[in-house]
Amino acid sequence: MNVPLILTQFLDRAVSLYGDKTAMICSGRTLTYKQLNERVNRLSHGLKQLGVEKGDRVAYLAPNTLEMLEGFYGVFQLGAIMVPLNTRLKPDDYLFILNHSESKVLFVDQDLYHLIVPIKEKLQTIKTIIVHQKDEETNEIAYDEWLAQHPNTPFDRPDIDENDVCSLLYTSGTTGNPKGVMLTHRNNYLHALISMHHLRVSDEDTYLHILPMFHVNGWGSPFYYTANGATQIGLRKVDAKVIFDYIQTYKVSVMHMAPTVLNMLLQYYDKHKPVIDHPVRVVIAGSAPPPSFVTRVEQDLGWEFIQVYGMTESSPLNLVSQIRSHLRDLPQEKQYRLKAKAGYPMIGCDVRVVDEHGDEVPHDGKTIGELVIRSNNVMKGYWKNPEATMETIRNGWLYTGDMGTVDEYGYIDIVDRKKDIIISGGENISSIEVEGVLYEHPAVLEAAVIAAPHEKWGETPHAFVVVRTGHEVTEEELIAFSREKLAHFKAITGVTFVDELPKTASGKIQKVHLRKQYWDSIGKTGRYV
Ligand code: ATP
Ligand code: MG
Repeated sequence: MNVPLILTQFLDRAVSLYGDKTAMICSGRTLTYKQLNERVNRLSHGLKQLGVEKGDRVAYLAPNTLEMLEGFYGVFQLGAIMVPLNTRLKPDDYLFILNHSESKVLFVDQDLYHLIVPIKEKLQTIKTIIVHQKDEETNEIAYDEWLAQHPNTPFDRPDIDENDVCSLLYTSGTTGNPKGVMLTHRNNYLHALISMHHLRVSDEDTYLHILPMFHVNGWGSPFYYTANGATQIGLRKVDAKVIFDYIQTYKVSVMHMAPTVLNMLLQYYDKHKPVIDHPVRVVIAGSAPPPSFVTRVEQDLGWEFIQVYGMTESSPLNLVSQIRSHLRDLPQEKQYRLKAKAGYPMIGCDVRVVDEHGDEVPHDGKTIGELVIRSNNVMKGYWKNPEATMETIRNGWLYTGDMGTVDEYGYIDIVDRKKDIIISGGENISSIEVEGVLYEHPAVLEAAVIAAPHEKWGETPHAFVVVRTGHEVTEEELIAFSREKLAHFKAITGVTFVDELPKTASGKIQKVHLRKQYWDSIGKTGRYV
């Protein structure tokens, strides 16, 4: 008999095998898996009483808290659809997503409630707003009081099909407007199984939630760490000192984060040398290309580094960069270079790099093509946007919009997003490669390279740079540095110094904004505006 793959099974398993073990610690509160499950039951009963039914959308606006973790399972148990909201958006973005998803109930953290106030009157389908950690001044339902009014007894679950949608996740909006991605129970379930295998998740793990749970990269973790009865640590705000304190206090063994956050931890480590007296098993980075600091993470921090690649549309992960055992004889330097790539396909994920005719490019590490994916992780489609779905999923393949190469070992390297590639005199230049060189300069803290219009060459690389505190560098010096290290046509032709770079909530640099800023500043319009 086929057992449908439903996400609630993960919590059921944790309760039956690890009931009295700590499920989560957050802001001084600790819950065992049994206690977590009781709160999840109360939540499902409460939502039912509010009129939420199978297939309805329930939105969450919260950092990585206990309430967020229990939200997933409380919503899934009803067969309803979770709509997690990015905490860094503007009120109008929330208005768009809440109305577009036709969400019925909104759970919001007290610290983020002010973002909802300006749009409250314009919400078309939200009937109830419930506030986590509500203070006296906020005139909405207080979560804990509301939860306590409902029984903690098992919830009578409706029939749920594994192909039913369980989450509507809006993309990061790195390249434009966010799109609602429909993921099914089956998508998320199989993604979790595959990930827990490759990341070697076990009941001995203590996982620190750094990547936001509202974002697809962070949101697989509540599934695979729960299914394995691991202990999870909540984190309200990404702060290097707090992260190092938590790693030490809670004996954290595994973390996932954006490379920008890892970079921040390395800076903090250099300055303060915080003590960690237990082994951190692994740190997993994905969601954007890391500069070449794999070596530093492994040698200075002593943490194993694994890179993963994915996108919201594929649940997200499909590639992993761990060194396979038969490659461990390669020189250490070569192994670091392989690990800095996005990686090779995870189990059940068919990922290929193809040319414009759909034919696979040779595995020579240099021929560039687009990554296409066929796997159980691939979304059902974009919510209320069949045209975009048809454009993205063609002949059963998900076209990622990411360009890459494949080497002789099967490691895929992301060269750039199709939209970020700089075309100069007919040559393709990877903005990522140019950034990698700039990061080698001691004065460069962060760098982002975009296409600038050029009369002769069409486009040339232009850098936005954040200078490291206590250092100085000029535009001429950086141009000369890049000419020294790169073929001249790839070298930057200008620099804009900035205090910070615009980033998405998961820490990705939004080059689309930088392009607009730059093109506007020189009074030009083009394909980037
Ligand atoms: P939007 O689709 O709204 O523009 P987004 O593409 O950034 O935003 P996500 O789905 O969160 O939204 O991110 C997926 C993208 O992140 C991938 O398509 C790829 O460009 C990038 N990415 C993910 N992992 C890696 C990696 N390991 N190396 C390089 N790029 C990566
Ligand atoms: Mg995308």
